[in-house]
Amino acid sequence: ERQRELERLKSEFIQNVSHELRTPLAIAQGYAELLNSGELGELQAEQREPVRIVTRRLRMLSGLVDNINAILETESKPLERESMDLADMVSTTLTNFRGTVEEHGLTLKDDVPADFPNLSGDPVLLWRVLDNLLNNALKFTPAGGHISVRLWQEGTEIALQVADTGIGIPADQLERIFERFYQVDGSAARRYGGTGLGLALVKEIVQAHGGRVTVESHVERGSAFTVWLPLANA
Ligand code: ADP
Repeated sequence: ERQRELERLKSEFIQNVSHELRTPLAIAQGYAELLNSGELGELQAEQREPVRIVTRRLRMLSGLVDNINAILETESKPLERESMDLADMVSTTLTNFRGTVEEHGLTLKDDVPADFPNLSGDPVLLWRVLDNLLNNALKFTPAGGHISVRLWQEGTEIALQVADTGIGIPADQLERIFERFYQVDGSAARRYGGTGLGLALVKEIVQAHGGRVTVESHVERGSAFTVWLPLANA
């Protein structure tokens, strides 16, 4: 009983804190982005780097709080499904993502069919799945590498794959990376940043859609994450 009560209090606490952080962070990030873009006036040379750092850190914090909120939401709310064009969502996301990929010295290849069947899903949550997989590929792939994104239909399923030529994941860790807060190497993870929540969220969202996530990876050669979603009842 006591254990259950403590669990409940912990969830409630996390929920309250992340909820309270959301608005001030969004506002601070908005202003930082404006400063950083130069829209509020030209920055002096010595101000540019600090503003860039503040902006990047706020983006990271917002991402973290978004992931915590999203995990709590997927647990407690039913999916808001609609008939959606996943191919269109992927293409739009990649258009925005391409610049960031190039800034990191990586290349992006995509194979997304223009004409693709609709599926029944929650567009906001499925976007989060893609966003988390893309950001991991970006984070764990050294400059000079490649990221490729593919979307295809296989029987009654849709497959969305994000592959990279990055650092890879040891075979004995492939199950564990989907656990909440799990990171392959704590000290390396500090170097790469992150919280270990992304893949837990990916798995929970995909399972809530009746799908599954598979991963293939080889250390120092790269990783490929594939999300399989049922096409039924679009
Ligand atoms: P985070 O990225 O915030 O650490 P995730 O849950 O997204 O958390 O990922 C958990 C761990 O799985 C990462 O810390 C990393 O060790 C490993 N991982 C995830 N994606 C990749 C990838 N594309 N390449 C190599 N390792 C990865």
